[in-house]
Amino acid sequence: MLEKIKQLEKTSRLLDPNPRLRTQWNEAVQAYADKFLDDIENLKTYNVEDDKGKQLLNFPIDENPKTITEILKIVEENVDLPALNPASGGHLAYIPGGGIFPTALGDYLASVTNRYAGVFFASPGAVRMENMLLRWMCKIIGFSKTSLGNLTSGGSIANLMAITTARDYMQIKSRDIENAVIYLTHQAHHSIQKAIRIAGMSEAKLSYIPVDEQFRMDASALQEAIENDKKNGLKPFLLIASAGTTDTGAIDPMDKLGVIAQRFGLWYHVDAAYGGFFVLADEVKEALKGIELADSVTIDPHKGLFLAYGTGAVLIKNVEALNNTNNYQANYMQDVIAAEDEPSPANLSPELTKHFRGMRMWLPLQLFGLQPFKAAISEKIWLCRYFYKEVQKIGFEVGPEPELSVAIYRYIPKNGDVNSFNAKIVKLVREDGRVFLSSTTIDGVFWIRLAVLCFRTHLSTIDLCLQILKEKVEFLEKARSRVYKKSTSTE
Ligand SMILES: *Cc1c(COP(=O)(O)O)cnc(C)c1O
Repeated sequence: MLEKIKQLEKTSRLLDPNPRLRTQWNEAVQAYADKFLDDIENLKTYNVEDDKGKQLLNFPIDENPKTITEILKIVEENVDLPALNPASGGHLAYIPGGGIFPTALGDYLASVTNRYAGVFFASPGAVRMENMLLRWMCKIIGFSKTSLGNLTSGGSIANLMAITTARDYMQIKSRDIENAVIYLTHQAHHSIQKAIRIAGMSEAKLSYIPVDEQFRMDASALQEAIENDKKNGLKPFLLIASAGTTDTGAIDPMDKLGVIAQRFGLWYHVDAAYGGFFVLADEVKEALKGIELADSVTIDPHKGLFLAYGTGAVLIKNVEALNNTNNYQANYMQDVIAAEDEPSPANLSPELTKHFRGMRMWLPLQLFGLQPFKAAISEKIWLCRYFYKEVQKIGFEVGPEPELSVAIYRYIPKNGDVNSFNAKIVKLVREDGRVFLSSTTIDGVFWIRLAVLCFRTHLSTIDLCLQILKEKVEFLEKARSRVYKKSTSTE
């Protein structure tokens, strides 16, 4: 038996590389990362690649170790090349993410030490760090000192946690669901509907409140809807507002909605996954007023704080409610010391073992201080305002004045179908690849979107985007007029 154990140990020790090998791997990975970052300005934002990473399948998981050089080559060609490069400042689609460099250093440290950030007893420092970050976010949105929440993997999970907490706090049991009413608008992010379904409430009544011409929830229509539902014996229990919709960056009138929620005793959730960190910018502070009235807020550090993907947050005033939904005891946890200085994330979320997410957020905030974050947020607002003005000069029609950093616009061609003309612009821009744009359809109208949130997007990027749009429109108009002439001349 001892012989067997020793023999196994010899091989299993390979999992702990010696210093020489560590250095070799570190250097190779670092060189790869440096090359990527040194080239970032020249890399395409979107690569149309027929292969779509297929070569990965030729490198199966098997008994054989491969060299770091081989591995990085596979990654470069199959993972980091095809399709969207979200690290590029040219990413102006959907809601762009971040990728500030120290996120990687935080992840590196968190993984090397592998501190267990689930319970205070196991790593008081890690838990303190995460709770400190949550309290900082509570503070910037104007939540009370007793508020807390949880660092999640993203905004969708944060929305799900807010909705399950609201469900339990408002005592919506299975038998109540048919009569329960949730208020939102058609502009709410689809992760809300997803969360409602996952939370077992797909039979609840979703009351879609009309929006004004800026796509913001109409507060008086909300009040009317709640009154009617009450009269009809239904149970209004949850109001969901957006602080920055995905389509247009619209901000619902959060202060008015907060007052209504309070009057009728609804749980008030604000989805600020995209717009939350704009409270750091003086330019839009006013529009975000009323967010502090919420019972729960979703905010995404991997959007507005420019972290690499993987960090969202749910902030909740009633920590006991969050705890009641998520806390659970088990026999094998009996040694965990209950008396704690700080609430443990494992009691406030569905997760037990989790990535030590705090480090990837805390380290960049400490290294940079807040100033560059604030400047970057303000810069994004101004870049969007600049684009909104300039895109009209090259003949585009625009949607409402941007509230945050999203603008919608479309080109009305001389002849032919407007929607398909604009869809073609988006396709041509994607094939071009220097910048990446996405589109949406609102009430049957196809709009091209510009979303400025990548920290690498600067004035030159927006000017490039405008130049590309101009080029594509000219190209399409020429092609169309040729077709038009041809069809009229053969008549
Ligand atoms: C991005 C976004 C979400 C979803 O967040 P993920 O981090 O992608 O899971 C939810 N709501 C809004 C408004 C968003 O912009």
